Amino acid sequence: MALFSSLSKSRALPILAFAGVMLSALTAQAASIKNVRIWPAPDHTRLVFDLDKPTEHKVFSLSNPNRLVIDLDGMKSEYDIDTLPVKDTPISNIRTAVKNGQDLRVVLDLKRAVQPRSFLLKPNKQYGDRLVIDLVYQGAEAEAQKTAPKVVAKTETQSNSRTNSPKATPSTSTTGEKRDIIIAIDAGHGGEDPGAIGPNRVREKTVVLAIAKKVEQLLRNERGFKPVLIRTGDYYIGLRDRTERARKYRADLLISIHADAYRDHRPMGSSVFALSQRGATSETARWLADSENSADLIGGVDGALSLDDKDRVLAEVLLDLTMTATLSDSLKVGQSVLGSIGNVNKLHKKEVEQAAFMVLKSPDIPSILIETGFISNPQEAKNLQNTAYQRKMAHSIVQGIQAHFKKNPPPDSLLAYEKKRKEAENNAYVVSRGDTLSAIAYRQKVSVDKIRKANNLRSDTLFVGQRLHIPRS
Ligand SMILES: [Zn+2]
Repeated sequence: MALFSSLSKSRALPILAFAGVMLSALTAQAASIKNVRIWPAPDHTRLVFDLDKPTEHKVFSLSNPNRLVIDLDGMKSEYDIDTLPVKDTPISNIRTAVKNGQDLRVVLDLKRAVQPRSFLLKPNKQYGDRLVIDLVYQGAEAEAQKTAPKVVAKTETQSNSRTNSPKATPSTSTTGEKRDIIIAIDAGHGGEDPGAIGPNRVREKTVVLAIAKKVEQLLRNERGFKPVLIRTGDYYIGLRDRTERARKYRADLLISIHADAYRDHRPMGSSVFALSQRGATSETARWLADSENSADLIGGVDGALSLDDKDRVLAEVLLDLTMTATLSDSLKVGQSVLGSIGNVNKLHKKEVEQAAFMVLKSPDIPSILIETGFISNPQEAKNLQNTAYQRKMAHSIVQGIQAHFKKNPPPDSLLAYEKKRKEAENNAYVVSRGDTLSAIAYRQKVSVDKIRKANNLRSDTLFVGQRLHIPRS
C-alpha cells in the first residue's frame, strides 16, 4: 500500500496545470515516444510506450507468418525500439518504419499467434501518457491444465460453514478425503506498478515478490499444504484477476503480501488486514447484481439454484452467510499470522485491521493482506531487502498459517484426517496385566456395553497391550 500526504498532492497540482498548458500548445506538433518498457508474464506480454502526449493508434494482426502491426499517427521515436529485449516473450523481432513521412509503424514478428489488446493510460505520479499493448496468450500452466485428467465431482456432505463455497470441481490434487490445503500467495503490485518506493528507490513490488517466493518455498516442504504463487515475476495483474486466480486454484486462503509507506519516515512495524464489514456488504451486493457470479457461488449448495426473484432473498441470505463465515475465518487466520510475525518484527497494530481492499473481496476464500513493514522507514527498507530477513519474515508467515490450519483444518484435508486420528489415539486405553472389561469401564466412567460397541468386541476376553477406544459421551 502506498499512502500519500495531501500536502504533496496540493504541491503537485500547479505543476500539472502548467504541464497541461504546455501540452495544448504542442498538440499541433508530432508526438514522440520517449521510452518503451516490456513486461513478460506467463500468460501475456505487456509493451508500454511512454508518450509525450496521447495519440491515435491502430493495432492489427497478420498471419503467415504471425505479426502484430502498431500504427501511430504523427509520431516519431526517440527510443531505439528495435533494440528492445524480447527474451521470454512471443516476439522474435521488432522492426520500425516511417510511413507518409510522419507516421510510425512498429511491426512485431511473432513466434505464436496472440490476442492483442491496447489502451491509453493517463499520467500518474510516476509516468506520463502511456500506450499499452498487451499480447495475450495461453500460459504454460493453462496448457498443462488442458491436458490434465478431469476429476468427477463428488457430492459434498460436510455440514460445514463453507459448503456454500463454489468448489464444484475438485482440483487434481484431491486424493480421496486427504487433500492438501491450498494457499494462494499474492505478491502485491508488479510491472508498471512499483507500489511504494523507499529510500534508494527500493521498490515494494520487488521485496514483496522475494518474500512471496520464500513463503512458497517453505510451504512446499510442509506436509498437507500446496502453495501457489499468483504473481511469479515482474508484471502486473489486475486486482479482480488476482482473486479470480485464487478461485481457479480453489484456494483455502489468499495472502497478499505488501510493504507500507508513509510520508513520515518514522513509522515502522508489520500489520495484517482483513476485509471490512462494509467492504463485505458492498461486495455481497455486487455479486448479487452479477447473476452469473451468484449462480456460480450459490451453485455449490445444490448445484442448480436459479436466481429468479423468488430465490433472490434466499440467495442473499446464503451469500451473506458465506461472506460472514469467510470474514470470520479471515480474522482468525489474520490474528494467527499477526501473532507469529510479532516474533520477528515490531507490530504496527496489535489487532487485525479491517479495510475494503479489493484483493480481499473473495466471498468464499478467507483472505488477508500482510503489510510486512514500512518501506519508507530506512531501517525497515534495509531489512526488507535483506535475504535473511526476508526468509525470517516468510517463515513467521508460514508458521502463522500452519498454526491456524492445524487448529481449523478444512474437513476433507490431510490435516483434518491427522487431527482426528490423533484425537482417537488420545482416547485409547492400553490393556495391562490384570485388567478386566468391567474394571476399565468403571474407571473410565463408561458402560461396558459402550466399550464393546466402540471396539466391535465379540467377547470380553482382553489381552495385554490391546488398544481400546474409550468413547466419550
Ligand atoms: Zn502495496
